Amino acid sequence: MQRIGSLPSDDSSPGWFHTSRLRQPRPPLIGDAQAPWVVIGGGFTGLAAARQLALNFPNDTVILVEAQQVGFGTSGRNAGFLIDVPHDIGAPDYIGDQANAKNILALNQRGQHILRDLVEQHNIVDAQLRHSGKYQAAIEDKGIAVLNAYRGGLEKLGEKVQLIEGDELKEHIGTSFYRKALFTPGTMLVQPSALVKGLADSLPENVKLYEDTPITAVDYGQKTTLHHPTGRIIADKLILANNAFGQYFGFLQGRMLPIFTYGSLTRPLTAAEQASIGGKDFWGVIPADPFGSTLRRTHDNRILVRNSFSFNPDGRHKPGYTDKVRQSHRLSFERRFPTLTNVEFEHTWGGGLAMTRNGQGFFGQLRENVYGALGCNGLGTVRGTATGTLLANMLAGKNESLTEFLLAAPKPNWNPPEPALSIGVNFTLRTGQARAGLEA
Ligand SMILES: Cc1cc2nc3c(=O)[nH]c(=O)nc-3n(C[C@H](O)[C@H](O)[C@H](O)COP(=O)(O)OP(=O)(O)OC[C@H]3O[C@@H](n4cnc5c(N)ncnc54)[C@H](O)[C@@H]3O)c2cc1C
Repeated sequence: MQRIGSLPSDDSSPGWFHTSRLRQPRPPLIGDAQAPWVVIGGGFTGLAAARQLALNFPNDTVILVEAQQVGFGTSGRNAGFLIDVPHDIGAPDYIGDQANAKNILALNQRGQHILRDLVEQHNIVDAQLRHSGKYQAAIEDKGIAVLNAYRGGLEKLGEKVQLIEGDELKEHIGTSFYRKALFTPGTMLVQPSALVKGLADSLPENVKLYEDTPITAVDYGQKTTLHHPTGRIIADKLILANNAFGQYFGFLQGRMLPIFTYGSLTRPLTAAEQASIGGKDFWGVIPADPFGSTLRRTHDNRILVRNSFSFNPDGRHKPGYTDKVRQSHRLSFERRFPTLTNVEFEHTWGGGLAMTRNGQGFFGQLRENVYGALGCNGLGTVRGTATGTLLANMLAGKNESLTEFLLAAPKPNWNPPEPALSIGVNFTLRTGQARAGLEA
């Protein structure tokens, strides 16, 4: 029996979770269960995989287990950007190989469309899904250079882009902090916790969702035995959709980097404060520099700030770290909105990403009767939705060109051993954040 060496443990202050609908979680599993299909992880990837398996095999039970509550983990902690366009930071024009970029675009759009259709079909109105596009914005010269290069790459890909500058930009996003932004219309914005709560509550009837049910040990064989605090689950086929925690099930060890990033939400702005900043009433900005700040004005007139990273090798939150991060969020917020110094943050939280050194995730078979879609690389809302769905289709014998693309993609690279790994990752995060300058 293999014990799971680390279990999810997120901080208690995820703003999107607390400001969305209070939901009655499904009770934990008590005792034993068995099913032809078991999915671990109730985030975007696991919810998509479980739903699609249930649709593909309507006579089978699909068990979905989540260690915490749905909407409380990383899938409910992100900035809520459902981004269509690829952004390869390793390529000079941020697009790189056209054929690869087209597949990434198609994958992201697939995830977007699945989520959009489910929101409509199940009337998940509190997900606040809006087709608002995104502004990729810059203040420093190197950020402006990124936007110019990226514009060229996107145009080669045939994507619509618009450069917006100076005073005109303030009319969009209510701050004159940025010099330039590249607007791409295809991004959708959501309240991520409300969305995943809604997805969980609209699963097909043959999905049995157990929340607050951590898998604590596993035995592999013809069937897989999963141990949880009060019993066992026997799975004919197991799907791992638990991102960086997939490592503790014996796969991709030494190939994923559990890195946390952090968000804060202000209280809702008053009508006078909204009028003082102007701009549209709903927008999202992502930084030209990957170490810069993400910014949003939400449906309920709050401002979201996301920046800062930490390397948390066990995938769990670091107690007290959010207090430090809140100061950095405050500085970023006041630089952008100097007239809103009285607007306090109500929530500051962190969430775990599964990064890999070559930016590749894993998709496919991990061993006999065990499959996975792991390694979100920071943008897993749409990617996870698409890969979870495609994996479930592959298991039903329905292969598509995107499945072939994912199966043929390079696997995540190996990490160097410790202590070189921690020294290297911490150095990269520290210097990246310092070099981001005003973009942070
Ligand atoms: C602050 C922040 C901002 C972000 N912004 C964006 C954004 O704007 N757009 C975007 O696309 N992405 C964004 N991301 C990344 C995005 O949230 C992730 O890529 C996405 O959540 C990955 O989804 P997933 O379902 O693969 O994994 P997760 O959301 O991590 O879900 C995996 C689940 O598995 C569960 N689990 C793990 N181990 C076990 C176990 N042993 N037993 C049972 N359950 C287990 C966990 O509790 C977890 O809920 C952001 C992330 C953060 C933290």
